[in-house]
Amino acid sequence: MQKHEKIGAMQEAVRALKADGKRIAYVPTMGALHAGHASLIRLAREKADTVVVSVFVNPLQFGPSEDFAKYPRTPSADAALCEKERVDLLFMPSAEEMFPRGFSTHLHEEAVSKPLCGIVRPALFRGVLTGWLKLFNIVRPDVLVMGEKDAQQVAVVRKAAADLLLPIEIMTGPVVREADGLAVSARNNYLTPTQREEALAVFAALRKAKEMVDAGVKSADRLVAEVTHLIAAKRRLRVIYISVVDRNTMEQLREITSGQCLLAISYWVDEVRLTDNMAL
Ligand code: AMP
Repeated sequence: MQKHEKIGAMQEAVRALKADGKRIAYVPTMGALHAGHASLIRLAREKADTVVVSVFVNPLQFGPSEDFAKYPRTPSADAALCEKERVDLLFMPSAEEMFPRGFSTHLHEEAVSKPLCGIVRPALFRGVLTGWLKLFNIVRPDVLVMGEKDAQQVAVVRKAAADLLLPIEIMTGPVVREADGLAVSARNNYLTPTQREEALAVFAALRKAKEMVDAGVKSADRLVAEVTHLIAAKRRLRVIYISVVDRNTMEQLREITSGQCLLAISYWVDEVRLTDNMAL
């Protein structure tokens, strides 16, 4: 596996692969790699000759009071996981390398990025899109691989890619969960055992909502009320948002009308913010 920290070296490596006719599948990450990322790397491996992973904690996507400084950084373990998963090229640029002083151009999607996380984290998707577009221009992927755990991110990137005719195919992998059902996340490392125990109530509530839909419930209000009620029983949990949405537009739905519906939730476990979702 080749590992690069500088844009120039990475571009050189990509040029050599392209000259060799290689098809590139790309998994962008913020590191602290875990089973969710590994599942995407395996999916990428099925889709192309060459797998590129980036580990970049993008400062543009964190608000001033968010956890940029304390976001987990585990570069050696990340490199070891990539090596084990037979990644070909690992790109680990610094914030200064990606966004040097004077960087002043941003990409802003203005519909799909507005609700849900867009309300509570206004910097998030502008930061994601700007960082990813720059990474795409370095990595020049044929296939982009993303996780459905971040359903709104998938929808926003799909929309921006369609609007701007980005020449990439987009693939997604399902939410990977711990054995107990908690969606795997770098931020799970912040949880104490008690907090983690309470967070499990969210997965139980999402599963209950899915069961209700399978039993014929169509009203989004009823589902949201039930999930809210189940979560309210836990002292450490506070819902940031919970909504039934169309998976492509992220628009709120009143009725479960098709297989395109998602129940999306973001919540605090004390001071740790987590997100999850369930296809309905
Ligand atoms: P992150 O490092 O959190 O920016 O995530 C990088 C990629 O991994 C994104 O496409 C995420 O959606 C995906 N990802 C993160 N956690 C999971 C998970 N538990 N299951 C599937 N994909 C995930």
